[in-house]
Amino acid sequence: MFFDKPPFNGYQTGTMAENKYFVTHLECALTGKQYPAGQLHNLSQAGKPLLVRYDLAGIKKAFTKEALKGRRPDMWKWRELLPYKNAGNIVSLGEMETPLIPCPALEKELGSSAGALLIKDEGRLPTGSFKARGLALAVTMAKELGVTKIAMPTAGNAGAALAAYATRAGIDCFIFSPDDAQEITIGETALQGGKIYLVDGLINDCGRIVGEGVEAAGWFDFSTLKEPYRIEGKKTMGLELAEQLDWRLPDAIFYPTGGGTGLIGMWKAFAELEAIGFIGPERPKMIAVQAEGCAPIVKAFEEGKEFAEFWEGADTLAQGMRVPAAIGDFMILGAVRDSGGFAIAVSDQAIIKARLLCGEKEGLNIGPEGAATLAAYRKALAGGLISRDQRVVLFNCGSGLKYPVGQASGRIDHTKPVDYSQFN
Ligand SMILES: *Cc1c(COP(=O)(O)O)cnc(C)c1O
Repeated sequence: MFFDKPPFNGYQTGTMAENKYFVTHLECALTGKQYPAGQLHNLSQAGKPLLVRYDLAGIKKAFTKEALKGRRPDMWKWRELLPYKNAGNIVSLGEMETPLIPCPALEKELGSSAGALLIKDEGRLPTGSFKARGLALAVTMAKELGVTKIAMPTAGNAGAALAAYATRAGIDCFIFSPDDAQEITIGETALQGGKIYLVDGLINDCGRIVGEGVEAAGWFDFSTLKEPYRIEGKKTMGLELAEQLDWRLPDAIFYPTGGGTGLIGMWKAFAELEAIGFIGPERPKMIAVQAEGCAPIVKAFEEGKEFAEFWEGADTLAQGMRVPAAIGDFMILGAVRDSGGFAIAVSDQAIIKARLLCGEKEGLNIGPEGAATLAAYRKALAGGLISRDQRVVLFNCGSGLKYPVGQASGRIDHTKPVDYSQFN
């Protein structure tokens, strides 16, 4: 369906090519200090992430829900709310809209009302995770602004996505990953033209190597939230979700939180949608899900702090959430609190159980990070934090195929008579 509207990659032609550029400036997420658009930026002078700001009044006049209907169903259809100047710079591998999957069997199992539970399956995107949204846009902007060499620390999926898009854009990329990252993501990064180096440390150790190489090796630093555009790509999850639910946002969103880009991005998306008149003031509870072995945001939330402390000895099988320090911590905590949501940690045991439950009940292979949101939903129901009739969206952020899966039910010797009674 995605490919049957030629020309694929034809963003230069038709409606997408019209000049729909509404960026006014960038802004420090902490201090509000303004920075000019159209040039390269990393962090603000305060050492905090930059947010892209748009002429939302202008977009409100120029953009309608109806206009969306004729557009290709992908993240680029949100043209007015995206930061590139020239559609010819778009670097794409076919970022289709991801499905919202009803979960009737899980609802029954957990005692939730019919229609209460939806899983947004981001594992279908190119490179098998929602990192594709962020990196497709960040690399598009890097291309537009003339970057030639990118470096990034990653737990795996961001590196795989960066490699794919940078290669497609003809930009060199150098990727640094903890040496216990998933073999498959290391392999796909290399296959897709990235140079990947394994570091005997955690992601923050990789981040230091990248930071020091900015001067020494002439890299542009693509660490999470250290360039302003990955958030804008991740924001499309929130835009897309709103349209898929006919502009009625769910009661709660469970988000597996590492660097928090997606949670921050969706929160920004909802504010922009309200400003352009597409939705009202109602918001879902934003729920940051972490693993018990690495829960800096949960700890800060519970202690009422604005910033999170470094989490020593981070350890969880859900590698996308193994982020001991997030530079956007105050933005995650701000969105969670402003939305009336909460932060919640689940054990690796609960993650494994939830993943099996989802596969066996719904036939859906989610990754451990997605499974963490299911485990958290279950825990929140039990603790009365969410009620069984509230409409909830869980984010499965990566394909379950990147992680160990199940086993065969048995072996059969084809030279011997088969005992068919065993198949009951
Ligand atoms: C990166 C990643 C996360 C965390 O996403 P953030 O937006 O950085 O919090 C969760 N799950 C998977 C599979 C990931 O790759």
